[in-house]
Amino acid sequence: MQSSALVMEEPGSLAQRELEVPDLGPNDVLVEVELSGICGSDVHMNDGGMDLEFPVVPGHEFAGRVAGVGESVESDSKGDPIAEGDPITVVPGIVCGECWYCDNVPARPTTCEDRDVYGFLNVDYRQGIHGGFSEYVLVDDRASFYRLPDGMDVELGALAEPLSVATRAFERGFAPGVPDAREGFGIGKSVAIQGAGPVGLLAASAAKAGGAGEVIMVDAVEERLELAERFGATETVNFTDYEGEEALIDGVKSLTSGHVGPDLVIEAAGVPDAVTQGIEIARDGGTLVEVGHYAYNGETDLNPTRIVQKDLDVHGSLAYPPIQFETAISLLDQLGGEVPFRELFNCKTDFEDAETAYERQASGEAYRATIHPGGV
Ligand SMILES: [Zn+2]
Ligand SMILES: [Zn+2]
Repeated sequence: MQSSALVMEEPGSLAQRELEVPDLGPNDVLVEVELSGICGSDVHMNDGGMDLEFPVVPGHEFAGRVAGVGESVESDSKGDPIAEGDPITVVPGIVCGECWYCDNVPARPTTCEDRDVYGFLNVDYRQGIHGGFSEYVLVDDRASFYRLPDGMDVELGALAEPLSVATRAFERGFAPGVPDAREGFGIGKSVAIQGAGPVGLLAASAAKAGGAGEVIMVDAVEERLELAERFGATETVNFTDYEGEEALIDGVKSLTSGHVGPDLVIEAAGVPDAVTQGIEIARDGGTLVEVGHYAYNGETDLNPTRIVQKDLDVHGSLAYPPIQFETAISLLDQLGGEVPFRELFNCKTDFEDAETAYERQASGEAYRATIHPGGV
C-alpha cells in the first residue's frame, strides 16, 4: 500500500512523495492521519539544527483514526478496546528496552541510548514508520498509542504530545518532598510560566487544573497573554511594560504571597536569559523547571551561587514517559469545555501549503501550525 507523505529531503527542502506502507503485521496498528502539528523542534530541523539522517518524514504530534488493527492487537496502551475507525493518537518516542537506562531508569525514556522517535527517522529505516506528515502511519508493537475518549474532537488528539511535555514539566515541580509545609508543589501554590507559546499555555492549564492558586504568565505579546488568561493564567505580566530585569523580577514577585516570588517557575520561552531570570523570580527554596531549551538556543551568563544561595531545586524536563499521554488526554477531556484548546490551531494547511505553515510556526504567528494530509 502507498501513502502520500511530505518528506524533508534535507533541511529547508520539502517534497511530496509516495511511500510504501507494508502489510499490517499481527501486532501493528495502521493510522490514517488527520493532522500533525509543527513543533518548535520541527522548525529547528527545517533550519538545519538537527543531526538526522535525511530524508525524514517529520511530524511527532499527530492524531487520526484507526485504519487497520493487526489480529493480535486487542487494546490500546491503556487497555481500552481498539477497533477500526476509532480516534487515536500515538506516543512518538520508542525506547530500545535493552540499554542500562531502559533497565534502570524506565520513567525517563529520553535517557535511552537507542531511542526511536516518529517524525525524526530516515524514510527507509523501517518501512511505514514515519512521521505524521503522511496519510498513513504504521504503529508497530514497540510504540504506545491511545484511543481518544468518545466525544472528544479528534484534532485535539494532536495536542496530547505537547500537553504531555507541559504536564510533565509542571509535575516535575512536585518533587522533591511532599506538597505541604511549602515543600514541593501543591494546592494553592503559585507558579510563574515564562513564555506563552503552546507548551507555556498548556502548562498554565495543567497548573490551574492541578490546584495552583496563582498562575502568572510572563510574555511580551499581548495577544498571547490574553489567550493565557483563557488557558488558566490568573495574572499576566507583559515584560515590555518593565524597565530592566530587576523591575520585571520585582513585578512578578509582587503578585505572590509575601511578595517573595512564586513557588514554582516553568521556563517555557526557550530564551537563554529567561533561565537566569527564572532563577531570580522563584522564591528562595522554590523550584525552577527548565523545559524551553529542548534544542540549542544560545547561552547565558549564569551565576551558580544564586542557585545555592536560594536553595533552589532546578529540574530539566525533556519529553515524558508514555503514560504521560494518559494524563494529557484526560486533561484535554476534562478541560475541553472551558479551555479554548482548538484556538492553538490557527494555521491549518495541506501538503501544498506546508512551507507557509513552517514559516508561520517559525515566526510565532501560529501557535501550532498543523498539516492535514487529507486536506483541511
Ligand atoms: Zn513537539
Ligand atoms: Zn534503551
